[in-house]
Amino acid sequence: MIIGIDLGTTNSLAAYFTEEGPKIIPNRLGRHLTPSVVSVDEENQVYVGETARERGFLYPHMTASVFKRDMGSDKKYRLGGKEFTAQDLSSFVLRTLKEDAEVYLGETVEEAVISVPAYFDDKRRKATKRAGELAGLKVERIISEPTAAAIAYGLYEKQKNTKFLVFDLGGGTFDVSILELFENILEVRAVAGDNYLGGEDFTELLVQHYMEQMDLKLTELTQKTLGQIYSQAEACKLSYSGTATGVMSCRIGGEEKSLKIPLRSYEKMCEPLLAKIRKPVQRSLSDAHVKLADIDEIVLVGGATRLPVVRDFIIRMFKKFPDTAMNPDEAVALGAAIQGAMKERQEAVREVILTDVCAFTLGTETAVRLKDGKTDEGHFCPIIERNTVIPASRTERFYTLYDDQERVRICVLQGESRYAKNNLLLGELDIEIPKNKAGEESVDVTYTYDINSILEVEVCVTSSGLRQRRIIKGRENDMTDREIEERMRELSYLKIHPREQEENKLLLLKGERLYEETVGDNRRRMEYEIQKFEMVLNTRDRGKIEEAAKHFAQVMEEVEEDDL
Ligand code: AMP
Repeated sequence: MIIGIDLGTTNSLAAYFTEEGPKIIPNRLGRHLTPSVVSVDEENQVYVGETARERGFLYPHMTASVFKRDMGSDKKYRLGGKEFTAQDLSSFVLRTLKEDAEVYLGETVEEAVISVPAYFDDKRRKATKRAGELAGLKVERIISEPTAAAIAYGLYEKQKNTKFLVFDLGGGTFDVSILELFENILEVRAVAGDNYLGGEDFTELLVQHYMEQMDLKLTELTQKTLGQIYSQAEACKLSYSGTATGVMSCRIGGEEKSLKIPLRSYEKMCEPLLAKIRKPVQRSLSDAHVKLADIDEIVLVGGATRLPVVRDFIIRMFKKFPDTAMNPDEAVALGAAIQGAMKERQEAVREVILTDVCAFTLGTETAVRLKDGKTDEGHFCPIIERNTVIPASRTERFYTLYDDQERVRICVLQGESRYAKNNLLLGELDIEIPKNKAGEESVDVTYTYDINSILEVEVCVTSSGLRQRRIIKGRENDMTDREIEERMRELSYLKIHPREQEENKLLLLKGERLYEETVGDNRRRMEYEIQKFEMVLNTRDRGKIEEAAKHFAQVMEEVEEDDL
C-alpha cells in the first residue's frame, strides 16, 4: 500500500486510497492532524505530535518545531544534549505517521508519496526524500503540494476543463501555483512562492505586539514564559475566526498580564505580510501567461488560509470567492494518496497524466565578452528556465574564450540571479577540448530534467565528439544509501515512545502543565490527582486505567475552567 503524506511545517497527516476515493488516516489518538513537533527526554525516548507539543510547554529546550523551514540545511537542533538536523527530526514525524497508518490499516506500509512546497529546491526535496528513507519508507515520489491539492480537487470535485490557482499558505511557507486540467492532463503552468512567509508570521505579529505593549524584553524572559506568550498569540489568532476582539493573557512574574487586541488593529498589523503575498501571485500569473480573470477556481490550501484577514484579502485581490469544498488542511494529503494510487495503477483512479514544472532555473556559468575585448566572468546563463514543463531537455552551445584553451568547465547551477555565485552549485563537469583559436571550438551542453527532479547533464565537444555525462544527485551534502543506513543506526539508540501509551502520557503532561500554571487549591488538587493517576498506571490494569484516565481528564477540565 502506498500512502500519501503531507509533511507540514506545523502539522502532518497521511491518507490512503480506497474504492470510494481518498481518505485521511487518523493517528493513534484518533485525530487527523499530527503536530510536526519532536521532543526527546533524558531516557532517549522520542515523542512526536501532540505529546511532543505538550512536552514543549514544560521542556522547551528538549523540543523542536517548525523545522521544515531548515530542511536540507546544515542547521543543528540541540535537544537535551543531542544534535539533530531537520531531516532527522522529520524522519521521526514520518515514522510516527507510518506506524499509526499501519495500526489503522492493519498492514505494513513501506511506500509513500510525500508532498513538499512547490518552491522547495532540489536540496530540500532530496532532504525530504532522505527523511522518508530514514523513517524506513520507500519514497515513491516527491510531489509538489499544490499539484497534490489540484489533483484532489480536479479529480474528485470537478469534471470539466478548469484553470486553477492554488493558494497555499501553510505554517511556514507560501506557494501559488497555476494549474490547468484538460481532458486527462493536469498541467502545472507556473509556480511561485516565498519560503519565509506563513501562518507563524501572523502569530509572530501578535507576540511582538504583546511584548511591546507590556514592555517586555526578549532577553529577560524565560523560555517557558516565551512559550506561554506564543501559545496565547496562537490562540488569539485563531479566535479571530469567530470574534472581533482577541485576548492574550500570560502570567509573568507572578502577575496576570492581559491584553485585548481588536481585529481592526490586528488587520493593520497584517498589512506588510499581506503585501508580501501579492508578489508571488503576480509572478505566477505572468509566468503562466494567464490573466486573473481567466482563473476558474481558487483553491485554498494550508491552515493559515482560514484566517479571515487572509480570506478577505484573497477575495479583494481576485474579486472572486475561493473554493472551500475541501478542508484546506487535508487536500494535499488526499491528493498525495491519489498520486500513490495512480502509481499503483489502481483501477478506481481516473488515469491522468501529470505534468509538473521546474521550480527554479537551471543553468551554467559563463563569461561575457565586453565591448573593449575584456572578459567578465561569473555570469549565469539559464538553460532550462523556471516554470518549464518537465520532463524537459534543452541544449545550449558555448564557445571557447581563449586561444589554445585546453579544458571547459561546466558549473551546474540552480537559481535566478544574474551572477553565478549567488545561485546554488549543484555539480561540475570538466572536459578536454582540442587546442584552437578562441571561438573556434565549442561544446554543446544538454540539460535533461525529469519529473522526479533528477537532472542529467551532458557535455559534447562539437569537433571531437568527446562526451561526458553526469547525473546530478544534489549537493555534496546529500547522503548516500550507506550514509542513510549509518544514520539510521546512529539514531537507533533513541526509542520512539510506544504509541499505545500515548493518550495517558499526554494526559500526564497536561496535568504537569496545569500544575505549573495554577496556584493554591487547584494546584494541590492537580498534585493529588497526578499522583493518583500515576499509581493506577503502575497497576497495568487496563480497565482501571481507562476509568482513571476519564476521571483525570474530567478533573483537568474542571481545573482549567476554574482557572480562567
Ligand atoms: P499547515 O502548515 O497547513 O498545517 O498550516 C498551519 C498554520 O495554519 C499555522 O500557522 C496555524 O496557526 C494556522 N491555522 C490553522 N488553523 C487556523 C485558523 N482557524 N485560523 C487561522 N490560522 C489557522
